[in-house]
Amino acid sequence: MTRMELERVLTLNRIWQPIATVVVKQALTLVFRGRARVVCPETYQMFDWGQWLNEKAVRSDAHVIEHDYIRTAHLQVRKPEVITLAKYAGYPNTGVPYSRRGVFERDNGQCQYCGIFVHKRAMTIDHVLPVSRGGATSWPNCVLACQRCNHIKSNRLPAEAGMALRNQPVQPTRDQLILSGVNLNDRWKPFLNEKHVKVKA
Ligand SMILES: [Zn+2]
Repeated sequence: MTRMELERVLTLNRIWQPIATVVVKQALTLVFRGRARVVCPETYQMFDWGQWLNEKAVRSDAHVIEHDYIRTAHLQVRKPEVITLAKYAGYPNTGVPYSRRGVFERDNGQCQYCGIFVHKRAMTIDHVLPVSRGGATSWPNCVLACQRCNHIKSNRLPAEAGMALRNQPVQPTRDQLILSGVNLNDRWKPFLNEKHVKVKA
């Protein structure tokens, strides 16, 4: 993956709560359509499309730090780092649905028994209380495990197998999932809770 593909724009709802990250082009499209405005992470000034072009676009032959700009036919437009949605004031905190990928992200790609880093394609999900004994497929009952540990544990509780969980499995917060796997931009910090930044730092 190139650096460009990894770059994300922090997306805030209308009252400046982080709700997602989007790629640069998607962020600019939202601003272009009037559905979002760019927020300057230093001054908190907001820009609609026209204002952003006025202040943050230069001609295509101007000398700029290339990484900070995106090229269009005639212009180089400064990449936004944070946007705020014009209408949406909700906050999607009504529970993060369980997912395999989510378990991988929550557990930082580490087997929750032996601690080794597991490749996504080799990951297995261990049901702490085994399915055969009524265990649910849910955040608090599922952990990332390497194939070896999952095999050893088999249909037993961790204690029965002489194993211990490294972390208590819990439902991750929306913000943790928003930021998981994303290259954190230091300049997002004012818009995030300190603890969320620490999660991935
Ligand atoms: Zn393991």
